[in-house]
Amino acid sequence: MVYAPVPDDPSLPPIRINLLSDTQTRPSAGMRAAMAAADVGDEQIGADPTVNSLCERVAALLGKQAAVFMPSGTICNIAATLAHCRPGDEILAHEVAHIVSLEGCTHAALGGVQIKALRGANGQFSPDTLRAALRPPDRHQAKQTLVSVEQTTNLGGGTVWDISTLASVAALAKAAGLATHMDGARLLNASVAAGVAPLEMVAGWDSVWIDFSKGLGAPLGAVLAGSRDFIDEVWRWKQRLGGSLRQAGICAAACHYALDHNIDRLADDHANARLLADGLSQFDGVDVQSPETNLVFFDVGNAGISNEDLTAALRQNGVLVSIMGGRMRACTHLDVGTDLIEATLDITRDILQRSASEINKPRQLSIVR
Ligand SMILES: *Cc1c(COP(=O)(O)O)cnc(C)c1O
Repeated sequence: MVYAPVPDDPSLPPIRINLLSDTQTRPSAGMRAAMAAADVGDEQIGADPTVNSLCERVAALLGKQAAVFMPSGTICNIAATLAHCRPGDEILAHEVAHIVSLEGCTHAALGGVQIKALRGANGQFSPDTLRAALRPPDRHQAKQTLVSVEQTTNLGGGTVWDISTLASVAALAKAAGLATHMDGARLLNASVAAGVAPLEMVAGWDSVWIDFSKGLGAPLGAVLAGSRDFIDEVWRWKQRLGGSLRQAGICAAACHYALDHNIDRLADDHANARLLADGLSQFDGVDVQSPETNLVFFDVGNAGISNEDLTAALRQNGVLVSIMGGRMRACTHLDVGTDLIEATLDITRDILQRSASEINKPRQLSIVR
């Protein structure tokens, strides 16, 4: 599913342009200073002031009663599943959702739940598709307890659900007695792209989290929000899963810094993604999904080179991208400026031209494992 050349392979030139993921950012000097100065305490007993203020801040941002700090987005998803569902239950989610394909089957392994995979373009399913998948309670079948969406969709191409569709999906789920969960790893990208406040975007969703290590520039951290009762139950699972922390304010300070400095600038990442996509789509045989946010998915199969060989050749030229769900993925973020996007296009053009002129000669490019 995910293929990326080994980032620190000493036989390869250093990476100059890292488009592997928006997780690749390094904390800035300002962020590190904020971390060093953080007021801290024991998070596990609720005594870290910087974590507590971050949780209050994110709960307010998302219009929820309470929130809890987590080490990662993946633990937010599994803790939410464990709090919402019982073994034998069913979650309805898109077939390319992160919870389906990128979390090591955690929801079945730890939660004992099955996921009903829904279809639809761009990582999104329609209210009609959800309606058709909902069924009346039947003791022969799994109990449907949760509907989950991803905002933005990752493997769906970084696309943004519009708020009217989100509201319809949430209303259908509620009418059928199901809870609603939003994987908001890149919710702030969606909010900036659509010009809609996060609070408005997540109305109707019982639980939602945002990831500070995706595009916001923090080294780690995610915050999961919901009702007071839900967050109390999540805390029980956080403890059980080993996700309770100690002086986590060091990390929460980075998240505060990200909220202060790194939200509006996500628009720059989106502009860079469009620049990259527009440039790539000029090359013969390159098929690009038009980006809505910071993820650029493309295929080069018709350009006389495979996705794997282009990924390897880019790495040999200091550019790191990945293959996800079979397509190439380049992800823009705050450590890659417009000049580096232009350089990426120049390097890609050269590789494609070279490969076109060598098409009848023995292959020079090899896959790096
Ligand atoms: C990255 C990601 C996650 C998991 O977040 P981590 O912080 O890497 O654990 C979950 N969902 C989506 C959509 C993601 O992109």
